[in-house]
Amino acid sequence: MPVRDRPFPSVLDPQGRTLGAEERAAVLRVLESGVLCSTFGVEGPALEGDMARLYGRQAAVACSSGTAALHLAVAAARIGPGDEVVTTPISDFGTVAPVLAQGGRVVFADVRPEDGNLDPDAVEAAITPRTRAVIAVHLFGGAADTGRLRRICDAHGLILIEDCAQAWLGEDAQGRLLGTTGDIACFSLQQFKHITAGDGGLAITDDAELARRMRLFADKGWDRTEGRIHRELGLNYRITELAAAVARAQLGKVAEVVRRRRERAEQLVAALAGLDGVSLPPQRTGHAWWLFPLRVDDNARWAKALTAEGVPAMSGYLERPLYANPALPDQPPGGCPEAERLIHRTLVALPWNEAYTPADVADIAEAVRLVHRS
Ligand SMILES: *Cc1c(COP(=O)(O)O)cnc(C)c1O
Repeated sequence: MPVRDRPFPSVLDPQGRTLGAEERAAVLRVLESGVLCSTFGVEGPALEGDMARLYGRQAAVACSSGTAALHLAVAAARIGPGDEVVTTPISDFGTVAPVLAQGGRVVFADVRPEDGNLDPDAVEAAITPRTRAVIAVHLFGGAADTGRLRRICDAHGLILIEDCAQAWLGEDAQGRLLGTTGDIACFSLQQFKHITAGDGGLAITDDAELARRMRLFADKGWDRTEGRIHRELGLNYRITELAAAVARAQLGKVAEVVRRRRERAEQLVAALAGLDGVSLPPQRTGHAWWLFPLRVDDNARWAKALTAEGVPAMSGYLERPLYANPALPDQPPGGCPEAERLIHRTLVALPWNEAYTPADVADIAEAVRLVHRS
């Protein structure tokens, strides 16, 4: 008998999502208004206001996905052909696709073994005269060292973009909100994230000029106060009114989502204390727990054995580092050894959810202890 013989709440079922009466009312409100495009509606602008207030930033720009938000950021940073952007090989492809789309070159720096986030020393070593920006990803909701990355970027005149798609309301060790150190921070509302509108994205900044460029890039380079003139290239990355209205309702719930994820994560942390050879994220206060990462000696064996006990587990999170994908040609040999080790040997990522009960977490802990003994 497996430890667990029924499914856990997940991001693909209603129990594992916080979609309720508020979202239903939001959808109906938009439908009844007759306006589904946010350019002419009220929900898109209101979402931007809500997001800017939540993070205490001057501006938020809503768009159609996390990848789109990153593309707005990269375009606003004026990344173009020949420009280099330093980032991590352990992330969603959406972190690097915008750089490639702008004709820029992605330069991968290695990560810290303990949490899979960018190693600031490796970032510094990757900087060349062509470097224009650094994209820091807060992997699984754990803080990248944005303090040091900020200082490195300032010393070299680089833009710092924070990819907070997995880090809604995460904080660093000093209690600073993740997404408030970079020039721009990007968020995703995709189905698998802490909160969702199916798809959607947000970019926040304190820089009025960056905000202006992001708005233009999201709307075909069209400044609608001026007439129908396209002074620069832009795409259509607009969020719809329906998605924006749902996102507003979800934004009102994100603090509780993160609070509950933390409460349950603390329970698992306590239950796994003293398990030799099982390492947890070193910085746990402020973690947003998008997934619950473990480090072990043989991640393929662990993921298989946990799954056999009814506890879903992903070996390595990714199948391969981003640079090993055919879409990224001409990568230098050698790669990033710490990233490879995490993906191919040591990292196991457990799906995490705000709807987990103490009994769910107890089952997960029991399965981990069982696999540890075997
Ligand atoms: C999900 C994700 C993205 C992309 O967001 P989409 O909304 O799926 O386009 C980018 N970066 C990270 C770290 C993500 O987890």
